Amino acid sequence: MKTIGLLGGMSWESTVGYYRMINEGVKKALGGLHSAKIVLYSVDFDPVEKLLNRGDWQGVAEDLSAAALKIQAAGADFLLICTNTMHQVAPEIQDKMDIPLLHIADATAEALVRSGIKKTGLLGTAFTMEQDFYKGRLNRDNGLDVLVPGKEDRAFIHQTIFQELCLGIAKPGTRTEYLRIISSLADQGAEAVILGCTEIGMLVDRKDTPVKLFDTTAIHAQKAVRYAIMP
Ligand code: GLU
Repeated sequence: MKTIGLLGGMSWESTVGYYRMINEGVKKALGGLHSAKIVLYSVDFDPVEKLLNRGDWQGVAEDLSAAALKIQAAGADFLLICTNTMHQVAPEIQDKMDIPLLHIADATAEALVRSGIKKTGLLGTAFTMEQDFYKGRLNRDNGLDVLVPGKEDRAFIHQTIFQELCLGIAKPGTRTEYLRIISSLADQGAEAVILGCTEIGMLVDRKDTPVKLFDTTAIHAQKAVRYAIMP
């Protein structure tokens, strides 16, 4: 079994989900007392988030690359960046590494394409919903049509990710709003909605809506399990 490198802490609330899902996946696949071999580097999110909000992507790339190199040095065979947003700097990180990086948008696109989805909604931070590093990868590289919520709803989602979900707060009123936004994307023709932020699965569950949801945390974790145990 390969050793999985996790670059986490963005936020730690979602990294807990990765740790649990990956171990559950390995246990299910291999049985007995098997568990995942993991090297985890969990950052202090506050300074990283400050760089992000100043638009200092170079600073983000430098900090995260340094952490990723520590993960590689500790023996990981491949790397997961446990957040959608920080994949903005995935190319810079990959450039510095010898081990492969499993990109969260590729794993997600594969899951959608496998399910026959052609047009999808996307929820995430403003960076993820608005910038090319993510939407472009789904669209250009994987042929998916991507719908995002309107401006006010995007601002609401972005704000609640940082002010509630990343702090482990799941408010019923916020859940109601997310469900309204999800069903409005379905009304506009989305056949599914990507939970493109690794904390949204803490708020919204498949049981809450008839719309097909693709949770990027679960998809990324499952992809890591498959990659770790394949010969
Ligand atoms: N975890 C989030 C994501 O998946 C947002 C926090 C961050 O900026 O990394 O995009």
